[in-house]
Amino acid sequence: MFKGHASRGVISLFPTSSNVAPPHLHTKHLSALNAHWCFFIFPVCSIIIRRNIIPKEVHRIIIREYMKLGQRIASIELFAQPGSAEPAYQPVLLWDENGATLVDTGNIGQMDQITKAVQEIGLQLSDIRRIIVTHQDIDHIGNLAALTAAYPDIEVWAHADDIPYITGEKRMIKMTDERLSQMPEAARTALHSFFNLLPSIRINREIKDGEMFELHGGMRVIHTPGHTPGHICLYLPQEKLLLAADELRVVDGELVGPAEAFTPDMNEAVRSLHKLADLPLEKVFCYHGGLYDHEPSARIAELIRILEQA
Ligand SMILES: [Zn+2]
Repeated sequence: MFKGHASRGVISLFPTSSNVAPPHLHTKHLSALNAHWCFFIFPVCSIIIRRNIIPKEVHRIIIREYMKLGQRIASIELFAQPGSAEPAYQPVLLWDENGATLVDTGNIGQMDQITKAVQEIGLQLSDIRRIIVTHQDIDHIGNLAALTAAYPDIEVWAHADDIPYITGEKRMIKMTDERLSQMPEAARTALHSFFNLLPSIRINREIKDGEMFELHGGMRVIHTPGHTPGHICLYLPQEKLLLAADELRVVDGELVGPAEAFTPDMNEAVRSLHKLADLPLEKVFCYHGGLYDHEPSARIAELIRILEQA
């Protein structure tokens, strides 16, 4: 109730404009993609905002959403299409004295919405110092080329096992010939335009399993392959918060594993879940489905049992 309508209402209180468009992607092509495949859709964006940097009258609207993630951590809700009840993709923005960090970048064509959301949080895209890419999928790197083209100082960090796919050296593992052949020509054209942008992406840092970033009081990398080879989760011990990316999802209020249809190595993904089971956790935030805070560790242990018996 609150999430869809009230959050989207915030946007109209903060009219903004964006002069940053994804390069070389044409609306007619994106429309064709949207029509064909739910992965490629025009979103409507709504936001979750830090409460102490916004006008008073907005506090009442957004306070619950802000409280979900923690101090100076906001999710950016990107809706699949106008009128959607739930956001389809949820990148996360964190900011501290080291500047802002964006975790994932939404699906292609969502640059305007991301721009608005960041501005409504009280920051600018130019405040972003780094983008951490949790994995290669198009709904996570959809605006990476556009962001780094517009702001070349932004660093891009990703796990080595997914870097060749993010930079276009290898074709993204889920973009199989079969899947591409099922799309109409206009959709394929749009995708090829997108693929052509990937070589412009420069990776500044190869991140490794177990690494602890000196960001936000400490942010640990947990390599969780299965959904893709270089998939990572990020753990923030200070908040007891796990950014699970696509290793976990929230569906109908319940924490569940990665989507099997988009997880080429489900056995590996289930093995990866073991790496999350012993974390002191109060909150799990999923790119698809958002927050889960009902004893997440117990639920992850239960999930492992369920998935290993399947
Ligand atoms: Zn995803």
